[in-house]
Amino acid sequence: MVIDARQLYNELTAFLESRHIPDADFDARCIMEQVTGKSLEMLFISGISSEDENPIRNMTQRRAFHEPLQYILGEWEFYGMRLFVGKGVLIPRPDTETLVDSVLTWCKNREISHIIDLCTGSGCIALALKQHLPNVKVTAVDFSQYALDYAKKNAEYHHLDIDLIHADVLDKATLSSFLENPADVIVSNPPYLDYDDMAELQTEVRHEPASALAGGKDGLRFYHGITNLWKNILKSGGLLAYEIGETQAHSVTEIMKSHAFQNVQTVRDLAGNDRVIMGKKSSEH
Ligand code: GLN
Repeated sequence: MVIDARQLYNELTAFLESRHIPDADFDARCIMEQVTGKSLEMLFISGISSEDENPIRNMTQRRAFHEPLQYILGEWEFYGMRLFVGKGVLIPRPDTETLVDSVLTWCKNREISHIIDLCTGSGCIALALKQHLPNVKVTAVDFSQYALDYAKKNAEYHHLDIDLIHADVLDKATLSSFLENPADVIVSNPPYLDYDDMAELQTEVRHEPASALAGGKDGLRFYHGITNLWKNILKSGGLLAYEIGETQAHSVTEIMKSHAFQNVQTVRDLAGNDRVIMGKKSSEH
């Protein structure tokens, strides 16, 4: 049996609106397109097969309870790539594309052989870099096996060969296996929310792993730890590049300078917020 797609779309949009879902029409569209594999415009013409109605209604129900759309769809786009996401892994944010852009710009016209991505999560940064720098060895590290499972699935799906390491980036012991293989670039989008941010999370973000968000009382725990430990794995003249929360530019710049990083710069994201801090390891290290 075929049902009227426009009627269903209007009904689902109104339902999500009544549950205070912003962009309810966009979410209803994404769900209908995901289940059917067709564009909404096509569905308006062809109608929807009744066997697709139940999965669509179930997914809409989950969204009405403010589960993130990205988890419901099971995939999201980052830097032009479709990535699998789900419970237990941070959803890649558009802001993080600024970090990828900054690193790629720095790598242009330089001889780069090894990039390490710390706290890789879904693998979004590591995979975007590998896709644009296919001859560079990319190593991605995360503490969460859930996250690494997604990163592995994403790497396989895109046929990108990156090394995935299950380890704590703040544990000195993790460094031992890297001493033989120093990096030209170390990049990280670590957890950086402070206690106040964590107390005020949007309902959707509460579905994401706290371990990927919480950066200690002041949000700076990982910047201190990573800078202090991983500078030892960076080649002289190599780049350390972080994503930061928009109010952390000053603090993270000071942390990097206190470890003798040079040319420490701030890069803004498309919304005009401070989003990336990057600097060069000085040769006297
Ligand atoms: N940008 C994320 C947020 O605002 C935080 C991600 C992180 O801590 N690295 O929810």
